[in-house]
Amino acid sequence: MKSATYFASAVKLDELPRDERPHVAMVGRSNAGKSSLINHLTSRKDLAHVSSHPGRTQTINLYEIDKAFFLVDLPGYGYAKKSLQTRGNFSEMIKDYLRHATQLRLVLLIIDARTPSALDAEMFAWLTRMKIPFVLIVNKVDQLSKSEMAKLNQALDKKYPGAARIDHSVDSGVHRKNIWDAIDLAVASDVKK
Ligand code: GDP
Repeated sequence: MKSATYFASAVKLDELPRDERPHVAMVGRSNAGKSSLINHLTSRKDLAHVSSHPGRTQTINLYEIDKAFFLVDLPGYGYAKKSLQTRGNFSEMIKDYLRHATQLRLVLLIIDARTPSALDAEMFAWLTRMKIPFVLIVNKVDQLSKSEMAKLNQALDKKYPGAARIDHSVDSGVHRKNIWDAIDLAVASDVKK
């Protein structure tokens, strides 16, 4: 099992500790299940706070994995209750990080299998345009029947053409392993974004 410890938080890129070890960043709508995914990947109950208040994680949070690289939790987007101003800042914070973090090797774009949204599609388009390597994590697949899953996959083929996809739910060790395989591959690669 990999070791995982909380390392640092920041509200902007230049507040992050100077450290050249690779980053694997997670983005997604508030409530898409990012915190749960971090806890599942690291086999920890509460490494990332699983919030019942969407939009509460407003910082960039770094978790050190095996002393070798970082999982980077970016603020969830699309939380409507905050003022538009704040929402704008969030997305700027995310974009600024994604544009300029030189350690970035891979982005996990986490979508809720039950409610893929226009914002997710926007993020997909933006990552594609910026040529940032990413994998789509189709989360909470335990909530869908086989036929719903087949329908979703057809829709995702159309909406996210060419995007690598990994299904995930917090109750599956196989899903967890598939995501770790993608992360390990990206971290091992020397190719920067
Ligand atoms: P975040 O806002 O993206 O960090 O989302 P959270 O990790 O706080 O999760 C939001 C809600 O989705 C919580 O109620 C979680 O229990 C639930 N959730 C997260 N992952 C899964 C999953 O794989 N399956 C199911 N059924 N629910 C999940």
